[in-house]
Amino acid sequence: MIDRLDPIFTDETAARNWLEAQRWPDGAACPFCESRERVKPLAGSSMGDGWYHCQDCRRKFTVRVGTLYERSHVPLHKWLLASYVLSTANDRAVTVDQLRATIDVSYRTAWRMLQRLREAVDAAGTAVADE
Ligand SMILES: [Zn+2]
Repeated sequence: MIDRLDPIFTDETAARNWLEAQRWPDGAACPFCESRERVKPLAGSSMGDGWYHCQDCRRKFTVRVGTLYERSHVPLHKWLLASYVLSTANDRAVTVDQLRATIDVSYRTAWRMLQRLREAVDAAGTAVADE
């Protein structure tokens, strides 16, 4: 079980490792062509940690691609905390101001995150994209 003090909510590497384990229990899979055998980590990449390259379709990706955390400048650990807060609170009772204060982002960012999380909940019934 995860609690509020879990390092995945404060540490970006822990957050990424956790999401990778959730999404890819059998190893990284390409979100574009679903290849698994020919996916390699881009170690020491200038793009930062967490990038993979698929040798089948020759595209690069991180664990965020294909989830609601995709294409966001907000660090993953803040997204996970926001998801956690929404999933443990009475969802509709969480305000933008509370989220902003909890995860330490701007009001505008918190507003956008809340929109995206609620859309995902409405669409899938869960705050974390389901494979
Ligand atoms: Zn691929």
